[in-house]
Amino acid sequence: MSEMPQTRCGYVGLLGRPNVGKSTLMNHVLKQKISITSRRPQTTRTNVLGIDTQDNNQAIYVDTPGIHRRTDRVLNAYMVNNATTASRDVDVSVMVVEGTRWTSEDEHVVRLLQKNKGDNTRCLAVINKADLVKDKDTLLPVIQQLAEYELFDEIVPLSALRNEGIERFREVVFRHLPEGPHMFSADDITDQTERQLVEEIVREKLMRQLGDEIPHSAVVRIEKFTNGDPVTEIFADIYVERSSQKSIVIGKQGKRLKLIGSEARKDAEELLQRPIMLHLWVKVRKGWTNDPKLMQRLGYE
Ligand code: GDP
Ligand code: MG
Repeated sequence: MSEMPQTRCGYVGLLGRPNVGKSTLMNHVLKQKISITSRRPQTTRTNVLGIDTQDNNQAIYVDTPGIHRRTDRVLNAYMVNNATTASRDVDVSVMVVEGTRWTSEDEHVVRLLQKNKGDNTRCLAVINKADLVKDKDTLLPVIQQLAEYELFDEIVPLSALRNEGIERFREVVFRHLPEGPHMFSADDITDQTERQLVEEIVREKLMRQLGDEIPHSAVVRIEKFTNGDPVTEIFADIYVERSSQKSIVIGKQGKRLKLIGSEARKDAEELLQRPIMLHLWVKVRKGWTNDPKLMQRLGYE
């Protein structure tokens, strides 16, 4: 009898302060846009799974909202709590930092990792945005600083956005996975439903279109999702907190909302691989980011 090939499988948490490039890294590892990204901190709200299977290896990435100390609003507390829990439940913790900047929030993440690290958890560090570092020698002090914690098994510099160093990173992760059977089939890439993926795409376009005027607290809910042939028709509501925000999102003669809709539709068609008709509607729900009951109704559990 021939021996079964040894398989590896495990959860890999992407942790770090907001905006260091965790979601960008996950999307480039998967070569698919599963997690939304933006220049604004706290784009990611819930933990999103991305599944990377190659041969005998299966890495289940958990993209987290980012760890920071402002937990004044219920929504913020919810996001940080998601990230902190993830750091306890994974087999491999990947702390993502920027090659250009080290802050007290990074320090805070290190302490959290030290506190939560289980006996069998591996910790890796990624120094992202290496493309922004002109003189690569300036990365050395960052590497040195990370090494001094004696927490990380390996430290990998890369550029998620430029797709540099991604393959090496995948291999490092695979190497640190525990042995075990695969939990997902080889062609699964996420735990998110198509509805959830489209909600997130709309939210990304909203955040990108609106820059700083934007209600950071906007939420998107799919009201109806009809798989027709050949067109999938999707009706989505955008909830904001004030009516003034509603007119900002809609824009003059509805121009802005139209743009958000057409950009979201393009991304959604690419991801779902079929033609889509997307209808957007803006609604006002006062104070939802600080109201646990309302948050639950909007899908945050
Ligand atoms: P997250 O909050 O940690 O998930 O960060 P995002 O993935 O949303 O990225 C935050 C911002 O950093 C976005 O504007 C990204 O385009 C940018 N970014 C991510 N990775 C890189 C990189 O390798 N190089 C550069 N120059 N920018 C990056
Ligand atoms: Mg993110």
